[in-house]
Amino acid sequence: MRDSTGVADDVTQSDSTSPTSTSFDVVVIGAGSGGYACALRAAELGLRVAMVERDLVGGTCLHRGCIPTKALLHVAETADAVREAADIGVRADLHGVDYEAASAFAGRTVARLDQGLRQLIKSRGIVTIVGTATLDGPHTVVVQAPDGGVAGRYEGTDVVIATGARPRSLPGIEPDGVRVITSNEALKLTELPARAIVLGGGVIGVEFASMWTSMGVDVTILEALDRLLPTEDAASSSALQRAWRKRGIDVRTGVRVTGVVSRADGVSVQVGDGDPLDADLLLVAVGRGPVTDALGLAAAGVDLERGFVTVDAALRTSAAGVWAVGDVVAGLQLAHRGFAHGIHVAEQIHAAATGSPPPQSLPPDEHVPRITYSDPEVGSVGLTEVTANERYGADNVRSFSYPLGANGRSLVLGTAGHAKLIRVVDGPVVGVHVVGRRAGELMGEAMLMVGWEAHPEDVAGYIHPHPTQSEAIGEAALALAGKPLHVHG
Ligand code: NAD
Repeated sequence: MRDSTGVADDVTQSDSTSPTSTSFDVVVIGAGSGGYACALRAAELGLRVAMVERDLVGGTCLHRGCIPTKALLHVAETADAVREAADIGVRADLHGVDYEAASAFAGRTVARLDQGLRQLIKSRGIVTIVGTATLDGPHTVVVQAPDGGVAGRYEGTDVVIATGARPRSLPGIEPDGVRVITSNEALKLTELPARAIVLGGGVIGVEFASMWTSMGVDVTILEALDRLLPTEDAASSSALQRAWRKRGIDVRTGVRVTGVVSRADGVSVQVGDGDPLDADLLLVAVGRGPVTDALGLAAAGVDLERGFVTVDAALRTSAAGVWAVGDVVAGLQLAHRGFAHGIHVAEQIHAAATGSPPPQSLPPDEHVPRITYSDPEVGSVGLTEVTANERYGADNVRSFSYPLGANGRSLVLGTAGHAKLIRVVDGPVVGVHVVGRRAGELMGEAMLMVGWEAHPEDVAGYIHPHPTQSEAIGEAALALAGKPLHVHG
């Protein structure tokens, strides 16, 4: 799928390799984060690997998700830095964002990674087959070429489903790709709207609302539940909404959209019984659903549940020799979870084939770090305060929230927010929640802390570098260990 504009410009269709054999140890369907990670690891372990992809190697994350959005969010951050420059003594005027150039920057970033990934795949001897795959039984993958003809039948001792997810729509709110769009079209815009409505205050909605606001778009964001990022710790949502009030973003929570009218010149969104909201476009960001239709899964004996592939803890499906990784597996839809799934499955296939010991089990989803790259960023890993209280009982849970306003580096960066640690009494840290500019960069430490079940006393025994934002996590650990340092009162 190519478009004449936007971020995918510098990237061309997946390289096709002419296979000399039609029989492989592993056939991977889908070359996104989960699929290509599986293929790379399997090839590294000496397995013969084929990977089928109908669109672009790298999938959603590289071409329509993580990478282009983060590039555009960096443009947004730069625009804000120019806006705020005078406050810190730099004479600069913002003359606006040249969105075409911003898209080109995102496209160059994608192209660079795309090139590296293709080289990596080639260098590992992975056979890439361009086309749409369906299963004809658990070990046979039939590939239809882009021109509609059959590109071949391939046998895999093991087959890995890694077909990812696509934007979900709502009944009565079908994206038309022009006035009512999903993140796919949002990344292909050639110019920014003057006014936009974002439906859904989850990760995608919040990232686009933040980015567009910084780029000068007048944004209203609508969320059905009572707060933005409703799956995050409630204090993170409050901090984000507080920061957004200052940014002038119109946040409406607890709202129900009852109708959308799309016209040639704009869109009207009916919210409850009030006056309709008018805008140039509506971004629908109400979740993503698995791509598991038309794959022949049921006929091959692969069970589905609400469209997601049913798997056990080792990512085995109900059909022997068929595995599933990434967003087709219910749970967090994150590229880094997909990488981990792919590697895990490749290592299990290799272990079974060679009789070597199986890999360590996968970390649970709650140990997967989550980051929303808005301004401010929202990062978390582990349990929220509510889920920790539910699991351990409120009397057995303690938390401490260190304000970034007391952290030197955060003050320099002009960010408010907090670093919150949640621990079990006399036990480990079970949740870390950070809100603030660059909060995402702190999630590496947070992930290790929660994954290794560190006690705040363990963390307090190490020395955080000064002056960094990571000290806010260190301060929270010190406080929970009963020896607060820079804490008033
Ligand atoms: P989401 O599930 O994160 O959020 C969707 C939001 O829409 C929810 O808050 C939900 O309550 C709300 N909603 C649903 N129906 C609604 C309605 N009728 N009216 C108003 N609000 C409604 O989904 P998403 O933001 O579309 O993201 C999809 C997936 O992609 C998520 O799993 C997300 O984690 C992943 N993703 C991750 C990143 C990242 O890691 N930075 C970035 C983008 C997407």
